[in-house]
Amino acid sequence: MATVTTKTGQVVDRMVLDSMLRRRLFYTPSFEIYGGVSGLYDYGPPGCAVLNNIVDLWRKHFVLEEDMLEVDCTMLTPHEILKTSGHVEKFADWMCKDPKTGEIFRADHLVEEVLETRLKGDKEARGQKVVVDEEKEAKKKKKSKEAKAVKLDDAVVKEYEEILAQIDNYDGPALEKIITKFDIRNPATDGNLLPPVAFNLMFQTSIGPSSNMPGYLRPETAQGQFLNFQKLLEFNQQSMPFASASIGKSFRNEISPRAGLLRVREFLMAEIEHYVDPESGKKHTRFEEIKDMELSLLPREVQLSGSTKTVSMTIGKAVETGMVDNETLGYFIARIQAFLLRLGVNPKKLRFRQHMANEMAHYAADCWDAELETSYGWIECVGCADRSAYDLTVHKNKTGAPLVVREPRAEPLKVEEWQIDLDKKKFGPRFKKDGKTVEAAIEALSQDFREKLALDLEKQGKIEVDVAGVGSGKVELDKDLIQIEKRTRVENVREYTPNVIEPSFGIGRILYSLMEHVYWSREGDEARGVLSFPPVIAPTKVLIVPLSSNPAFRPLSQHLMMKLRRMGVSNRVDDSSASIGKRYARNDELGTPFGITVDFQSVKDNTFTLRDRDSTKQVRASEDEIAQALKSLVDGEETWEDIRQRLPEFTGQEID
Ligand code: AMP
Repeated sequence: MATVTTKTGQVVDRMVLDSMLRRRLFYTPSFEIYGGVSGLYDYGPPGCAVLNNIVDLWRKHFVLEEDMLEVDCTMLTPHEILKTSGHVEKFADWMCKDPKTGEIFRADHLVEEVLETRLKGDKEARGQKVVVDEEKEAKKKKKSKEAKAVKLDDAVVKEYEEILAQIDNYDGPALEKIITKFDIRNPATDGNLLPPVAFNLMFQTSIGPSSNMPGYLRPETAQGQFLNFQKLLEFNQQSMPFASASIGKSFRNEISPRAGLLRVREFLMAEIEHYVDPESGKKHTRFEEIKDMELSLLPREVQLSGSTKTVSMTIGKAVETGMVDNETLGYFIARIQAFLLRLGVNPKKLRFRQHMANEMAHYAADCWDAELETSYGWIECVGCADRSAYDLTVHKNKTGAPLVVREPRAEPLKVEEWQIDLDKKKFGPRFKKDGKTVEAAIEALSQDFREKLALDLEKQGKIEVDVAGVGSGKVELDKDLIQIEKRTRVENVREYTPNVIEPSFGIGRILYSLMEHVYWSREGDEARGVLSFPPVIAPTKVLIVPLSSNPAFRPLSQHLMMKLRRMGVSNRVDDSSASIGKRYARNDELGTPFGITVDFQSVKDNTFTLRDRDSTKQVRASEDEIAQALKSLVDGEETWEDIRQRLPEFTGQEID
């Protein structure tokens, strides 16, 4: 049985939570009546409302607070762009096929699953207590040849643990070695597997009817932002640093998505690209504000030593000691933590894990993932990477577009350099259609090489330059065509390619993990689930419940409903015949944080009781006071405790 440990410490079957979320239509498998497709889900009304509230808070917390430039770019992306960005070659996971059954496994997940099962078997054989995931275990017992209580050598146990601590660090060949060394097979059939091969995760398509423009559904929102860099810089009046931001769907053809909402093939991303001058030391002007924030960090070295023990440290210290590469990266890590905590994430189930060298994109300077602990283990919910100048540079080189910052220099800079002059009149007729390619190759020559060529030209009267794709790959140029001289150039403008710090949020992953974190059940009744969303995130903020079906209550309920809606406080009236307790219980499952009861006293003096979902405590006050209290609770200006302090408690009817 896979279990969720709730915020009150109960251990609850994940199926209970899952079936509640489906029953209340937070989400549902897409195309279910056709049998469904794994990795594709639809969100129902409360799911949509929470997603929108998360996105809304994200916009306030990042875009508004930091004055970011939001863009909404197209999801359809031509091949050429993702080829240039490296996605066509590198955006892949490793998969293994069972040649007999045709089953396909994601190689790292398979290794993880098999080694974990063997370690459990070892613990059992040693008579140690095993925290068993019964659901998984039952499936395996039926099928797997691995699920045996077999004692392993101590050295093997250590090796397994080390592999698991750095499972994200292995590429295909490394996984192949592990699979061979530890004889990892198809757990269901014990059949041998073919070596891992790379599988590109992008969905391919074709743009337009002629099928001569291949394209992909974007795997991230980032590229659209990079391609608009120049326009955004201009929009920002050439002022640096600045950030762009984007919220939208991304698509990844995951190999075998089996973790519910956590690994899906289409998901909502919210990404920030913060552009910074690399020569500024990547300082951040607001670092002071967050430097004392305490974080739970899992640095690279700890993982490489085979451990997953976190270190608690302020972000100020982490940057000062070099554990986190720079202030801007540190600033965003702290801001991500603040955002997740505002959503209601359990701080004890949040850590930041640093990427290991192989795991990081080759251009990245440093990368930390915000991971949330769930019944599926620790899950990456936000990635925060320093992408250096990679993306802007590759797109600039490919298109020639000046994806750079130009800044006037306070003091002109004198640069001594070898400059090349081409005699354009002779150059064109000589190289014809290859002229541009030859010229580009010459322009790209390094200063050292230019110096050598200048000497050769002087001595021999001609030189040879490598030009890929033209003739034999070498081009001869004589003195008539080319001159190379050392000259002094005065630079009044500094031109540089900014570096990019990228926080990248998977909204669906955050939502699911959050639901596990805020879920619990009322004492003595596991079936009475509660989702303790903070008011700002809750799908509906208030439930209005008339005490009974007495017609005198109806105008009051309707009036309250409209009044609160006009104030922006979402609410629903439940005037069904169920008992008040039952009506509240139904809304606990939806995470509705407050309830207003309309009773006979209300009819007499227009006072109402306001009930808090988590404590079930109530206060009683006038319509205006209750409405104002709700507004301030929902806007996060006051807590329930504040309201309890200032409004009279009501103990009349106990509703829980
Ligand atoms: P990445 O670009 O791989 O670092 O992903 C950025 C973020 O997107 C991650 O932190 C996740 O929150 C989210 N994400 C990535 N892949 C998936 C997926 N298959 N399903 C849901 N969310 C995902």
